[in-house]
Amino acid sequence: MSMATEKKTVGFIGLGIMGLSMAGHILDGGHDLVVFNRTKSKADDLLAKGATWAASPGEVAAVSDIVITIVGYPKDVEEVYLGNGGIVECARPGTILIDMTTSSPELATRIARLAEARGLAALDAPVSGGDVGAKAGNLAIMVGGDEKAYRAAMPIFDLMGGKIVNMGPAGAGQHTKMANQIAIASTMLAVGESLSYAAAAGLDQTALIEVIGTGAAGSFLLNGLGPKMVSGDYAPGFFVHHFVKDLNIALAEAARMRLDLPGLGLAKSLYDKLVADGFGEEGTQALYRLYTQLAEA
Ligand code: NAP
Repeated sequence: MSMATEKKTVGFIGLGIMGLSMAGHILDGGHDLVVFNRTKSKADDLLAKGATWAASPGEVAAVSDIVITIVGYPKDVEEVYLGNGGIVECARPGTILIDMTTSSPELATRIARLAEARGLAALDAPVSGGDVGAKAGNLAIMVGGDEKAYRAAMPIFDLMGGKIVNMGPAGAGQHTKMANQIAIASTMLAVGESLSYAAAAGLDQTALIEVIGTGAAGSFLLNGLGPKMVSGDYAPGFFVHHFVKDLNIALAEAARMRLDLPGLGLAKSLYDKLVADGFGEEGTQALYRLYTQLAEA
C-alpha cells in the first residue's frame, strides 16, 4: 500500500462469482477486511488469508469505515441495508456504504436518503466486465451519489476497477448499468444470430469469430462469449436469472419514462423462454440454445 493510501476497515457482503474476487483485491491491497455471506463456506479462502467473519450485515457495518455489498437481487439489497439489524441501522456515522449489486435506481435513491438521515453516505456503484473483469480487477464501475464520498472511496474502487466514473446523484450508477444491460441485451441476440447464420452457411464458427472479431462487430460478447456458444460451454460467468432481473428493471424504468425499446422487449421474451426451459442457472451465453433448437426445428 502506498503512503498516500490510508489503511481502512472494509466490510464486504456477498461473496459470489463477483464479490469473492473483488473482496480478495481489497485484502491484497492491505486493508482490513470483514466479511459476511449467506453461505458461510464461500468465505473460507478469504478467512484463511486473514479476513474476519461477522455474523450479520449489521455486525459488518458496525466495525467498518466502508461497507461494500454485491448480493443478488433488489430484495437482497433491501434486506441487508434496510432490514432489522441491517447496515443502515448499525453503521457508525461517517461510514460510506457502497452497493455494487445490479439493482433498481429507485431503491438506490431510497437507501441514500435513509442513510443520509443517519449521517451516512450511500453510493450505488454497479459494475460491468463480468467474472473476468472481477478477477483481473479492471471492472468498469459506474457510480451514483455524493461526490465527496465518491472521492473518499476512490482508493478502494481503484483496487477493483479500471474505468471508474461518478455519473451523477444517487441512482445514476444504476441507470448507467441499465443502459449497459440494454446494449448487452440486443448484442447477445446479435451474436447468437450471427453464429447461427454462419453454421447454416457451412462456415467454421471459430474461424468466423477470429476474423469478424477483429472487425467492426468485435466485442466482449462476440469475442468472449461467442466461443463458449460454439463449444456448448454454458457454465455461468453471469447467471441467466440475474440478467432477467436486469431486463425487468430496465423495462420497468423504460415504461416509466414512456420509452419503447423493442430490442430490449425481444431479448426479455427470449430469456424468459430460456428460464421456462430450465436454464436459469446457466450463463447468459446459453441463449444460443434457442438458436440451436430453431436450427433443428
Ligand atoms: P452470485 O454468485 O449469486 O453472488 C451473490 C452472492 O451474494 C452470493 O454469494 C449470495 O449468497 C450472496 N447473497 C445474496 N443475498 C444475500 C443476503 N441477503 N445476505 C447475504 N448474502 C447474500 O452472483 P454474482 O454473479 O456474483 O452477481 C452478483 C450481483 O452482481 C448481481 O446483482 C449481478 O446481476 C451483478 N453482476 C454480475 C456480473 C457477472 O458477470 N457475474 C457482472 C456484473 C454485475 P449465497 O452464497 O448463499 O448464494
